[in-house]
Amino acid sequence: MAQIIDGKAISAQIKDELKEEVSGMRERGIELCLAVIQVGADPASSVYVRNKKKACEYIGIKSLSYELPEETTQEELLGIIRELNGRKDVNGILVQLPLPKGLNEEVILDAIDPLKDVDGFHPVNVGNLSIGRPGFVSCTPAGVIQLLKRSGIEIAGKECVVVGRSNIVGKPMSMLLLRENGTVTTAHSRTKNLQEVTKRADILVAAVGKPRMITADYVKEGAVVIDVGIHRNAENKLCGDVDFESVAPKCSAITPVPGGVGPMTIAMLMKNCVESYSLQNK
Ligand code: NDP
Repeated sequence: MAQIIDGKAISAQIKDELKEEVSGMRERGIELCLAVIQVGADPASSVYVRNKKKACEYIGIKSLSYELPEETTQEELLGIIRELNGRKDVNGILVQLPLPKGLNEEVILDAIDPLKDVDGFHPVNVGNLSIGRPGFVSCTPAGVIQLLKRSGIEIAGKECVVVGRSNIVGKPMSMLLLRENGTVTTAHSRTKNLQEVTKRADILVAAVGKPRMITADYVKEGAVVIDVGIHRNAENKLCGDVDFESVAPKCSAITPVPGGVGPMTIAMLMKNCVESYSLQNK
């Protein structure tokens, strides 16, 4: 039977390590602060924002909350970001996505000071990742690397296939696996013979956004399978991009949904917040 990679336990371990680090920083008089901005009242976004604030509280990071009305204008939001960029007491700025219609996500994210961009979405941070300079890395793919490393799975020299090439998951995932010396293939909706490509993988990452699309036919015997997808099925139960039941018996290790990649995203956001201080005070 495959090793079930426990994202809940690994994320809890990371949060405890960060809590200790933050308490050490406090003793040296350093207080960390994350500003979280939500525009509108999308219920899913409200849950994510609440969980981020809870994680801050647990670790000992102050959180500043901006709950802005749906009709907030682009100029108003940009004004708040500029003010937060200039505040010495604010280390991280997070704008919860998606933004309501009428607000241009690209313009808003580009306005965040790259040194405070704890989501790792700013083009400067994306560029830093691709040329191997220090900077913030998108939280979900950074979490996948931690899951692999902390489960004792070697990446160097392995055939890694990432299905998906979005800016927030697929592309940074491929860059990170490459940085860890994997031999990386990025597959997408125009890839021909996808099953042949995915069957080459020693490490297969599914970030495709299609419920249970990756069945046993896509997986090599003994592969490690990481499922980034999150979906709710007809019975309102969570499932991933991987058909866990058919794939698990075939692979050497697999992440479940829920309890795999999901909990890692907030843990890595907290890690970025803690690292922001040293990036800002180099
Ligand atoms: P996107 O929809 O932005 O990207 C999906 C990618 O999959 C695209 O690159 C697309 O290719 C590719 N794709 C779609 N259909 C196929 C197909 N039939 N064959 C091969 N490739 C295909 O999704 P995200 O990257 O934002 O998210 C991926 C999944 O991860 C979603 O389920 C999302 O909910 C989940 N997610 C989970 C997070 C977590 O914390 N665990 C965080 C973020 C996302 P193309 O570029 O050609 O269109």
